[in-house]
Amino acid sequence: MVSNRLIDLSSDTATRPSAAMRKAMAEAEVGDEQKAEDPTTNALQERVAALLGKEAAVFLPSGTMCNQIALLVHCRPGDEVIAADVAHIFTSEAGGGSAFAGAQTWPLATERGIFTAAAVDAAVRDVNRHSPRSRLLAVEQTVNRGGGAVWPLEAIEAVADAARRHGLAMHMDGARILNAVVASGVAAQRMAASCDSVWLDLSKGLGCPVGGVLAGSRAFIDEAWRWKHRLGGALRQSGMLAAAGLYALDHNVDRLAEDHGNARRLAEMLGNLAGIRIMNPEVETNIVFIDPTSSGLKPKDIVAALMPQNVRMGTSYGGMIRAVTHLDVTTGDMETAALAFKDVVKGGRG
Ligand SMILES: *Cc1c(COP(=O)(O)O)cnc(C)c1O
Repeated sequence: MVSNRLIDLSSDTATRPSAAMRKAMAEAEVGDEQKAEDPTTNALQERVAALLGKEAAVFLPSGTMCNQIALLVHCRPGDEVIAADVAHIFTSEAGGGSAFAGAQTWPLATERGIFTAAAVDAAVRDVNRHSPRSRLLAVEQTVNRGGGAVWPLEAIEAVADAARRHGLAMHMDGARILNAVVASGVAAQRMAASCDSVWLDLSKGLGCPVGGVLAGSRAFIDEAWRWKHRLGGALRQSGMLAAAGLYALDHNVDRLAEDHGNARRLAEMLGNLAGIRIMNPEVETNIVFIDPTSSGLKPKDIVAALMPQNVRMGTSYGGMIRAVTHLDVTTGDMETAALAFKDVVKGGRG
């Protein structure tokens, strides 16, 4: 039973804007964003600022730019950023933190990207002429390479307290913060309350083609705007893109629970296959990490063998395969994908 369309589980960025989202984009009222005259972009910024409990927000072309601008505003060259070893900021932004902000990094060894206040205490440098200045603590909600792990509210508050005690600023890479909100029932405002800066991605599970929104104090966002201009990220009639974001916040948030259910279902079925171990069997949100070591097959060979069956997954770090659910895959697709996976694994051993 080969699917007649591609079941793309390689990322939640694989979503395509729906017909209704495209209609909202086409009909958006627009103006010049750089003059603060795009009413739709202004509305999105205000909406996300309120959602995340901050004074202000700025629409940016990507989540990567949200992280990089936050590093630029918080850090001076030579400053040090403390975050989990698996943090997107360290692993997946082409060294932007050092290339732009000139910041160096202290990656904390973690279990699925979550760490403790004691780990922060231990990582902060003594203040003296020799040490870099510990400047910023960053957490990721949810932890991408942690299999979509959700930082519990108390854990965020504990590390934020530690950051404050040491005079560090606190940043939240909230690419999937709304997945965490839906999974935990904790409001986004509370989750981000102890953070000086926080952003959410529109182009992941929310299903938009482009964009992220970075939020913080008015002063922080004023500085972020300066960097947005400097980096060439300031746009013109961006309301067409912002309209997708507003549409997504209206229609695509509560339904993230379906993605989480689908990911759990997929993990259950794959976890029952001989030779397959699920790294995060509890599957809190929409990401499943699959360890095929005991099957004797290599991740890249499994991923390649799935393609003719119209199932796409990705290889990831640590010899694992990553499958991510989103609004363009169905519960039925999970069954189909699991059957294809079973075929491939059986074929490999036989
Ligand atoms: C995807 C992602 C980013 C980057 O977002 P883009 O919009 O793809 O630039 C940053 N952090 C995390 C945790 C992500 O998953």
